[in-house]
Amino acid sequence: MRAARTAASLNCKVSTSILARSIRESATLALNERAKQLADRRQPVIHLGGGEPKNKAPFAAVIGAAARLTAAEVKYVPTDGTRGLKQAIIAYTEEHYGRRVSPANVIVSSGAKQSIFNVLVSLVDPQDEVVILAPYWVSYPEMVRLVHGIPVVVTPEDGGFVPTIEEVDAAIGSATKAVIVNSPNNPSGAVYPDGLIAELVELCEERGVHLVMDDIYHRLVFDGVRPPSAYAFTGRDVDESRVVVVNGISKLYGMTGFRIGWTIAPEPLVEVMKNVQAQTTSCPAALSMAAAEAALTGVQNGVENLRLSVQNVRDVLLQELRAFAGVHVTKPEGTFYCLPDFRAYSDDSEELSRFLLDKALVVTVPGKEFGAEGHLRISFCGSVKDVTEGVRRMRWALDPTAPNDIVIGERRLVRDWL
Ligand code: PMP
Repeated sequence: MRAARTAASLNCKVSTSILARSIRESATLALNERAKQLADRRQPVIHLGGGEPKNKAPFAAVIGAAARLTAAEVKYVPTDGTRGLKQAIIAYTEEHYGRRVSPANVIVSSGAKQSIFNVLVSLVDPQDEVVILAPYWVSYPEMVRLVHGIPVVVTPEDGGFVPTIEEVDAAIGSATKAVIVNSPNNPSGAVYPDGLIAELVELCEERGVHLVMDDIYHRLVFDGVRPPSAYAFTGRDVDESRVVVVNGISKLYGMTGFRIGWTIAPEPLVEVMKNVQAQTTSCPAALSMAAAEAALTGVQNGVENLRLSVQNVRDVLLQELRAFAGVHVTKPEGTFYCLPDFRAYSDDSEELSRFLLDKALVVTVPGKEFGAEGHLRISFCGSVKDVTEGVRRMRWALDPTAPNDIVIGERRLVRDWL
């Protein structure tokens, strides 16, 4: 891993803020960098750490953006999103959430990440608390800290990936402004049961706390599981409800680089978010919005194709992991992530991840990053070949019941550390 380049080591007089300095480097990016160094040296690295499927942007999206580009009219557009995209989001919400919302309840941002950040900036005062459910997406605690809030992490007592309503209830206090829920969940692939979502909606509405649903993976669910919708569990109008829904095109439509996400929220929250966005990024990129509108209104079979192919790779991964002595794996019901328990091999997931990269040239992400020490996040958004070969190499490096030698790339390697 590269040496940390601090202001001091560069002998530089930049005095960055205490807050900004407290924000952690993304472990995924650091690992990616190490993996890239190895790949640059022509090492056959297998990447099981990724967060984006290989599917291409829908053709309609490309045409939509191209039409806008060839008109050579790419100017500022409304802060909260173009009328066309907002209408497409309203139709999407009606189709997939069974809710008709008004344009005043919708704000488009530059990726779901910015949507969540803007929700937090708009809700959280210094020292306010935001409840985060472990295992959690790495960015939530850092974003809460960035808005001077305090992340309060709920870790399921039973060692599983889904909290009980009592555990969430106990974490909510007078300073709590929001609870963030990500189901289907990155990093565990868990889908919270409908009953829990219903209880969370009721709890948050009773306690006057916002329930921020990060639904970025909502249609990537398997085995007949239905995409969850918090709106199904509130009789209140969107403006009266505490439910805030964040979604986007990055994962489902293979459009991570377009940077379009959105928030559905009560109008007063959207109004504040609009001012926040107007004073920071003005508006999401017009070209990306044209592409997003076309993706949402065009042929939709790409999402189902992605879901089926990801489910297929998941099944292969599960099969491979079941042969891995000592590894405990919970079947992911959604997303393209799996979070097996590797405590039979190490309690230090960072060290284990580094070991696997160095010895077996396989990239995984340490569970510690997600509040799940002792686990490794393995992505199955790649090919069956990558997943099969990746787990084969991991077994060789760790599992004493696996064969002692292996061919990686063109080299035959013998395990001499077990
Ligand atoms: N939420 C979760 C749980 C994610 O995993 C990601 C992307 N890794 C995002 C939000 C951000 O998505 P976007 O690309 O739209 O910013």
